[in-house]
Amino acid sequence: MTEHESTAEQERNPHALRERILALSGEDVGRCIQCGKCTAGCPVAPDVQPTPNQVMQLIRMNDLETLMGASMFWYCSSCQTCTARCPMEIDIEAVMNTLRRLVLEAGGEPAEKDVATLNKVFLRSLRAHGRIFEFGVVMNRNLRTGKPLRDAMLGPAMFGKGKLGLRPHNVRQRKKIKRIIEKARRFERVEPGPPDAPGE
Ligand code: SF4
Ligand code: SF4
Repeated sequence: MTEHESTAEQERNPHALRERILALSGEDVGRCIQCGKCTAGCPVAPDVQPTPNQVMQLIRMNDLETLMGASMFWYCSSCQTCTARCPMEIDIEAVMNTLRRLVLEAGGEPAEKDVATLNKVFLRSLRAHGRIFEFGVVMNRNLRTGKPLRDAMLGPAMFGKGKLGLRPHNVRQRKKIKRIIEKARRFERVEPGPPDAPGE
């Protein structure tokens, strides 16, 4: 669904966002009782707005516009603490994932572009090598975000400890991993990103 279609649907149906999240994730945010337990346990919540329980409320209020500009689900580390704590057994982490997907599907500008870029190059590295090529991921993230020297000071120490290789190492059955990722992508119907950069 494009951003224009989403907005039109939002105007027609006051429950459109909640219903879309339910259809995509199987999670009914309408069951949230705003107890705040998810936010209290979230390691990311102290530094971002809106907090997990506020995200739940914004979905119930059908406020896609505010959510399109929100940082929370881009910083979500998928630790699932919120999900484990929720007395209503809502899989909040799945809702966060679904919100990321909705923003990308709608062609919207992610509020945290650098995080979205890192997600993209991380997955591409996994697809290409069957595992993460850290140096390639960092370089591609830096070039795509226009910050070529970001984290450069960490490099020498990591090289020195053998934590960073200059060449990728492919796993033996990387084609299988590539197929799994492609299948997941088709299943989620996430729009493909720009073509891979050299070295990915
Ligand atoms: S899964 Fe995401 S939203 Fe939930 S507690 Fe962890 S970081 Fe916070
Ligand atoms: S823990 Fe569950 S019920 Fe409580 S605010 Fe978070 S989502 Fe709502």
